[in-house]
Amino acid sequence: MARIALVTGAGRGIGAGIARRLAADGFDLALVDLTADGVEAVAEEIRATGRRAVALTADVSQRDAVFGVLAAAVDALGGLDVMVNNAGVALVGPVADVTPDELRRLFSVNVDGVLWGIQAAAASFIERGVRGKIVNAASIAGHEGFAMLGAYSATKFAVRGFTQAAAKEYATHGITVNAYCPGVVGTDMWVEIDRRFAELTGAEVGATYDRFVGGIALGRAQTPEDVAAFVSHLASPDSDYMTGQAVLIDGGLVYR
Ligand code: ADP
Repeated sequence: MARIALVTGAGRGIGAGIARRLAADGFDLALVDLTADGVEAVAEEIRATGRRAVALTADVSQRDAVFGVLAAAVDALGGLDVMVNNAGVALVGPVADVTPDELRRLFSVNVDGVLWGIQAAAASFIERGVRGKIVNAASIAGHEGFAMLGAYSATKFAVRGFTQAAAKEYATHGITVNAYCPGVVGTDMWVEIDRRFAELTGAEVGATYDRFVGGIALGRAQTPEDVAAFVSHLASPDSDYMTGQAVLIDGGLVYR
């Protein structure tokens, strides 16, 4: 029987890339996002390749919603082997200006959402005796605090903390927990980051993105497929001896 993966934030960007790649690897997929349109389109594409795919909606910041959607995925597909906690949001602004509401909103998706995903997946794996894999979205910003991205960086450092701790706690169940740390990926999120930099610093639209891409040793922006290739490894038995890691896949981005 095919292995089964759930990917959050799978309606577009990196999450959609991961879902397509895991389907190509032979997984059946549960695709979760805030709204149905994106995940339904990606699920349709995956079904056209002959794999099973269900589209589900949930706000990952809500603990009950995450447990509920994971149970729905297990029901619909008959199990779960890999949980990819990919959904995330960004915030651009100087440390001095971060407001309580902005901070809470950012943490509620990027950190709470990952934590609920870890809890729900691990409980489900343990209950069913599955040596499952949990894969979390961190970032290069989880290794280095970038100017204007302080709050976002803080959420991604937090993801690394939960990844390391959960890896140790669940190891005796044969569950691995790792994170991928992308650099500059040309998704809608970066379009928004670039636009906000322009608004706040007076930079030209596109200039911030170009500046970051200019700092990449491999000389090009990253694609969702670049990220998905590594997530494919983290989802496969080839990574069975790896846990608690948060690996940079950033093309050799020079910190700035
Ligand atoms: P990335 O570069 O990480 O792919 P995107 O903004 O393109 O960035 O994609 C992030 C995905 O995460 C989007 O599909 C978005 O709808 C989803 N997402 C954001 N917040 C939530 C949330 N609270 N619950 C579920 N999905 C979310």
